[in-house]
Amino acid sequence: MRRAQTLRTWLEYLRQTERLATIEKQVSLQYELAAVTKKLDGVKAAFFKQVEDYSIPVVSGICSTREQFAEAMETDPYDVIRRFTDAVASPLPCKQVGNDEAPVKENIIREDIDLMRLLPIPVHHEKDAGNYLTAALFIVRDPVTRKQNVSIHRLQVTGKNRLGALLLPRHTYHLYKQAESAGRALECAIVIGVDPLTMLASQASTPFGVDELEIAGALRGEPLEVVRCETVDIDVPAFAEIVLEGKILPHVREPEGPFGEFPKYYGPRSDKEVVEIMAITHRHQPIFYTIVPAGYEHLLLGGIPREASLLQSIKQTVSGVKAVHMSLGGTCRYHAIVSILKRNEGEGKNAILAALANSFDIKHVVVVDEDVDIFNMEEVEWAIATRFQAERDLVVVHGAQGSKLDPSTDEGVGSKLGFDCTIPLDSEPMRYLRIKIPQYEGINLEDYL
Ligand code: MN
Repeated sequence: MRRAQTLRTWLEYLRQTERLATIEKQVSLQYELAAVTKKLDGVKAAFFKQVEDYSIPVVSGICSTREQFAEAMETDPYDVIRRFTDAVASPLPCKQVGNDEAPVKENIIREDIDLMRLLPIPVHHEKDAGNYLTAALFIVRDPVTRKQNVSIHRLQVTGKNRLGALLLPRHTYHLYKQAESAGRALECAIVIGVDPLTMLASQASTPFGVDELEIAGALRGEPLEVVRCETVDIDVPAFAEIVLEGKILPHVREPEGPFGEFPKYYGPRSDKEVVEIMAITHRHQPIFYTIVPAGYEHLLLGGIPREASLLQSIKQTVSGVKAVHMSLGGTCRYHAIVSILKRNEGEGKNAILAALANSFDIKHVVVVDEDVDIFNMEEVEWAIATRFQAERDLVVVHGAQGSKLDPSTDEGVGSKLGFDCTIPLDSEPMRYLRIKIPQYEGINLEDYL
């Protein structure tokens, strides 16, 4: 059995490697659960056995380091981007199974849907408008091609069987608008509690029409098993913990938000699309999964797929690009650090332009030579400090589209900045020679202490 076969096998792997903190003490849904999770961020996953009076436990922080995503792929951290890129390039079709082979169908609820009575859905941040699903795969189907689309949206509980959804203008929204213009609802499935690689695959930057569950299959190295929902024409992971079956209502908008988002600020309240839930299916003794927004798990789930896309973009312009890093301090969205083997003068600047062109979210780009470890921010700062001169190495573009969630922009419009920290090719060798103590690498401290 692979480590990341299902949420349960992954939690068992974390437990065996002492990175699952089991919390026996009863905790409150409001803030306390998020606070304890955040205390453990980047160290251990938090498994809450008793959340208020609910019989369902809650887990959070199941992958909160880059190393853990590598472990889920059963590879090393430097191979994560290559593996993800390969999966995006070669999706693997899902394997359809029947209800009797799908644990998520062990319990089927069609009557008296009451989300907050059944599920321990937390309130995470101080000014959040209410209880939010933050870690659910949102699956819809294109009625023309029958291809599914998978994404993650924040979902506020606004009624017994009602959710307010933030749908950014991407694939899900496009399919919804098509349905709405024909006066129809768009069926959806909301999937809680899958393995970390399926979560990661859902965040792939792909063209419209690619089923992210097929990318999950490729990333897992075997087809993902899926089962047809009870009340909607959608296939969901058979080993998911909980599935909500519903529809996005046409011509209905209701207030949603504010909500604490990945940049560590609140996304605003406004009228949003509404999902109505018709049925819930779940495993016996299901586990509820939540992501505390802006935590390492949230940032890395967004960052790793973005790095894969960014590396591909830069490669088209600068073939000597070695690696890219969307750093945690830059929310894994706004800051890109790029290392290149510079073969021609000026390529540092080309790498900046290519990086800025990859995504409107990217705001600041730092390009360094390949000797700099771009995953060590002290090294990156050192390169800026000693290899950069603003007069010749700075690239500035004003009035470009950026992230609306960056509060320093004017409704999303702002400046882009690039730092070319590559060494001039014609520089005299001694000038940029790193100091080095010859015997350092071979020293074993135990021989001296
Ligand atoms: Mn998509």
